[in-house]
Amino acid sequence: MNVRQLSKLIGIACLMFTSQVAGQDKNDYSNHRKKMIENQIVSRGVTDENVISVMSEIPRHLFIEESQWPIAYSDGPLPIGHGQTISQPYIVAFMTELLQPDTHHVVLEIGTGSGYQAAVLAKLVHHVFTIEIVSELGRSARKTLKRLGYENVSVRVGDGYKGWPKEAPFDRIILTAAPEEVPKALVDQLKPGGRMVLPVGPRWWGQDLLVIEKDLTGEVIEKKTLPVRFVPMVHEKERKN
Ligand code: SAH
Repeated sequence: MNVRQLSKLIGIACLMFTSQVAGQDKNDYSNHRKKMIENQIVSRGVTDENVISVMSEIPRHLFIEESQWPIAYSDGPLPIGHGQTISQPYIVAFMTELLQPDTHHVVLEIGTGSGYQAAVLAKLVHHVFTIEIVSELGRSARKTLKRLGYENVSVRVGDGYKGWPKEAPFDRIILTAAPEEVPKALVDQLKPGGRMVLPVGPRWWGQDLLVIEKDLTGEVIEKKTLPVRFVPMVHEKERKN
């Protein structure tokens, strides 16, 4: 083989390699997901194998706008419109682990947003009921979840402070927006033996992530875990003003 033939061969090989890598980056974010799991989730101490496994599979980028896909797996929250955000991957993993989900559980989520947290839970439990106060977000999350084949998630547009009395009581309740105080109506909708994970505190600063456990006699115990910063859980009347 002469030098010209060899350089042509190398050229073809390079072209095949780059087009394969480019193809992978464009349509398949599995490498991004793998790095997210290693560098953001496992390295910070999340150990629940089921949480790690579902977050390794779920295409987080498909829950946000296409222009943001390249940063879908970055280490922070991202805007989803209407002044709201999809939570940081680590926070989703940490809260899901704290919730201790099981395959027979019925879960209530307040703050559907993009639908990503609901999707993570849907892979781990029997059914997820999720409430979103911004109708455009609720409708769009419902569409995304349907398109991706999630059949065990029910999305409702409404005020999360009221919970979902018709489907209560719930084995688990998770809030992804922060009320200033623990909403009593939601604690009432928690099953004895149930568990609730929620951020609580003033708007934008000084919030704590709480775990609330209700024992079999109905007694409630509250524990603080991390300091956090979530979007506020708003009241219906504020949205109408
Ligand atoms: N879990 C979401 C992140 C949600 S951000 C995800 O995975 O993408 C918090 C969401 O809570 C926002 O979409 C906000 O509109 C919603 N929210 C705020 N107050 C609410 C309320 N009272 N009832 C229901 N949803 C509320």
